[in-house]
Amino acid sequence: MTEPPIYVTSPLLPSLDDFSSSLKEIWESAILTNNGSFHKKLEKELATYLKVPYLSLFTNGTLPLITALQAMRITGEVITTPFSFVATTHALWWNGIKPVFVDIEPTTCNLDPDKIEAAITPRTTAIMPVHVYGKPCNTKRIQEIADKYGLKVIYDAAHAFGVEVNGESILKAGNMSTLSFHATKVFNTLEGGALIMHDEQTKKRIDYLKNFGFANETEVVAPGINSKMDEVRAAFGLLNLKIVDQAISKRRQTAIQYREILATVPGVTFFEDMPKVRHNYSYFPIFINENIYGMTRDELYIKMKEHNIWGRRYFYPLISTFSTYRGLESAKPENLPIATEMANKVICLPMHHALKENDIERILKLIMNNG
Ligand SMILES: *Cc1c(COP(=O)(O)O)cnc(C)c1O
Repeated sequence: MTEPPIYVTSPLLPSLDDFSSSLKEIWESAILTNNGSFHKKLEKELATYLKVPYLSLFTNGTLPLITALQAMRITGEVITTPFSFVATTHALWWNGIKPVFVDIEPTTCNLDPDKIEAAITPRTTAIMPVHVYGKPCNTKRIQEIADKYGLKVIYDAAHAFGVEVNGESILKAGNMSTLSFHATKVFNTLEGGALIMHDEQTKKRIDYLKNFGFANETEVVAPGINSKMDEVRAAFGLLNLKIVDQAISKRRQTAIQYREILATVPGVTFFEDMPKVRHNYSYFPIFINENIYGMTRDELYIKMKEHNIWGRRYFYPLISTFSTYRGLESAKPENLPIATEMANKVICLPMHHALKENDIERILKLIMNNG
């Protein structure tokens, strides 16, 4: 008898009736894209929800990364983390920028500020950190280094929807931040994303760039791309925005249940909440010390699969090990000991709004029953 599958995530879905009503409105207006009323409304409501003055919607979470680098004319070398989803480094590559990998801190899996300065060269123009698993980077230290060397900072905040430090949005850090609204993320618009900037002029420039560079009907001011969000996705997002807080509090409850039991399992470690941080519980990574736990990470991963529990080894393998990047000097495992270790120990447990009590019990029982 196989038990029903439990996946690492499950997309947040609005009520089909509500979505049908929105579709009816779109049909009646016959406006499908190009900054229509749903697009305008979602930009406004998201800016309010996220507590940021400006934001620009995109068709996914990768294009805002690429566009941010274009908008700031970033060239040369950019310091970044190997412990992320490949899109972070790919965005640099697509701009002809050389990624320089710097190791992470074991306490958060984020870029280690203490190791950034040693990687700066005369060609360095920016730092691109990631708030991995939605855990805030040390934005203060990173900004100090950036200011000292005259570097820009672009945060890949794909995991950090709604994350706040001291009541302030993490998206205010650096020159710009990007979000992903992919189906697997805490808040989704099917596919989608956003770029967060801090002034009106930059917002205008980004809005041109995401629409081929058109400033008006006849003027193209820059070699832009097409990465606008359409009306259907914006309508979907508006409905999901109404239920995302409920989803985050369900995730929080699950995290509390996981931690309570996993604290009793030798060889399994996990992150606690950080003080003064509003977390979004986007992922629940655990780290396996095979000597103490009595089983390797991959043995546990396979055992979970055999029981139809689909965890994911985010972020294994490291970006720096992929064929495009592994030839870089900074990609050598000796340069990235902590990232290499964490990537070899991690499994992200299923974490989403639709997990049932029985699912959580099944997962915890399996992890406790090691050896
Ligand atoms: C999901 C993700 C992206 C890319 O977002 P898409 O919307 O899938 O293009 C970028 N960076 C990180 C860290 C991600 O997890």
